[in-house]
Amino acid sequence: MQFNEFVANDKLIEEITEAVKTNTLPHAIIFDGAKGTGKQTLAKIIAQSFVCSSDNRPCGKCPACIKAMHSSHPDIFTADGNNTGELTVDAVRNIRADAYIMPNEAPTKVYLLLNCDKMLAPAQNAFLKVLEEPPANVAFIMTVTSANMLLQTVRSRSRLYTLYPATPEEAAEYVSRSYPETDYGDILRAAQLCDGNIGKTVVMLESGGEEAKKLADEIFEAVIKGNEYTVLTLTNKLSQSRVFAVSVLDFLIEEAAECVKASVGAKTNSPISAEAARRMTKSKIFRIAENIDRAKQVLETNVNLNFFGTWLSSVLKV
Ligand SMILES: [Zn+2]
Repeated sequence: MQFNEFVANDKLIEEITEAVKTNTLPHAIIFDGAKGTGKQTLAKIIAQSFVCSSDNRPCGKCPACIKAMHSSHPDIFTADGNNTGELTVDAVRNIRADAYIMPNEAPTKVYLLLNCDKMLAPAQNAFLKVLEEPPANVAFIMTVTSANMLLQTVRSRSRLYTLYPATPEEAAEYVSRSYPETDYGDILRAAQLCDGNIGKTVVMLESGGEEAKKLADEIFEAVIKGNEYTVLTLTNKLSQSRVFAVSVLDFLIEEAAECVKASVGAKTNSPISAEAARRMTKSKIFRIAENIDRAKQVLETNVNLNFFGTWLSSVLKV
């Protein structure tokens, strides 16, 4: 993948492309932005451009690029906060020690620190030491959903680039390249429901998402109206498949988060959430949101799907 294949965030991509061309990329970069905005994709393209041996970086053709694309380049090191132990204090200390060793074959050694949301303050402090006195020929690229999850001291020593979701049209256009068989109208509708978030759009297309979104909305409406029998009938539809149930739960979690926002007076674009905030007390909304989160965890424990719907309807009745 190259910079010109990237979707949305044109200005930022232009700025980064220019910095790569002129060798002026900072040694510490933070990408922040919501899930699915392409932070990791962009971080990996930059890592590739740091090791690429061509003039037009990243060329995607030289041996270094090929290795980078297969995640086997010896000078690109990845640590993912979502994997246990990869961004702990000890792991960060190892990274720090390793950073002072010369690159194997590329001009620069690159450390990709992904999902830094999970990097706790002690680990960030350990990381800060190497940011304060960065070795030559080393680049650190971090991804995080919000830069506020990082210590001010880490942020101030890094360059922050914020990624925004694509518009639904941009997302649909991009996704349709990977789904040439799928009707463009369906893709666009999915992209609209997902507010242009490419990752979510893909998940929605693959999991019969439109149906899941509709069912989640119906369940939520019935919960707000206190119509217990309808809630039970609707939640029992989750038994058709686990992927489908997870998808419905994800939409419910989002609705609930919007409701919580609306209940504390924040603006929401969701009409259902606005109505929930009018009809229900704050504590009731918080309890429902908590129970929906718990339901997602229960679903991940391989619970029997035939009982799950009934159980879910009972915890939505608060
Ligand atoms: Zn190359």
